[in-house]
Amino acid sequence: MQLLKDRIVKDGIVKEGNVLRVDSFLNHCMDIELFQEIGKEFRRIYEGEEITKILTIEASGIGIACIVAQYFHVPVVFAKKNRSSNLPDHVYTSQVQSFTHGTTSCIVVSKDFLKPDDRVLIIDDFLANGCALEGLAEIIQESGATLVGAGIVIEKAYQRGGQALRAKGIRVESLARIQEMSPEKGVVFA
Ligand code: 5GP
Repeated sequence: MQLLKDRIVKDGIVKEGNVLRVDSFLNHCMDIELFQEIGKEFRRIYEGEEITKILTIEASGIGIACIVAQYFHVPVVFAKKNRSSNLPDHVYTSQVQSFTHGTTSCIVVSKDFLKPDDRVLIIDDFLANGCALEGLAEIIQESGATLVGAGIVIEKAYQRGGQALRAKGIRVESLARIQEMSPEKGVVFA
């Protein structure tokens, strides 16, 4: 998606430690008009697919998923990161290692909001090692719902996540795929 790539080049900041900061339009200050274009693009990509729910993970996926959902006319469910040791009842759970923080958290989704007849599209901001997506896919599997695919805004294609998930047969569609990046070179797209 050229509009998104241009924006990454213009406003993205590549930090040491393999982190692309996109706080000025995606992760902190949110450009809703750009999100709308992202929503239209995912709608186009998943045209013809029956989707009944969008699933994302807190926190940075929520804003994007909400705008995207307006083009699918379905509810958004977000997995909560459970910080306490005692889990609430009646939930699906999975363990997710955070790429940016290096910590592991338990993510939870209430059994009330994912049912076996749901057809789910996962939406997230980044795909790196794939831990977040794998955790969400595990929860969908636990619930008996169908995973239709994933819509990722930025995929760091040189990390293992995309390849591993696609090898499992999961449809992963990314709007911008980064081949390499460094503070010196900036971002190179695949
Ligand atoms: P994964 O689980 O695929 O390793 O990482 C995905 C999650 O880590 C995303 O939800 C995103 O929040 C965060 N993340 C991974 N790489 C980056 C990055 O380069 N920049 C930012 N801002 N977040 C990232």
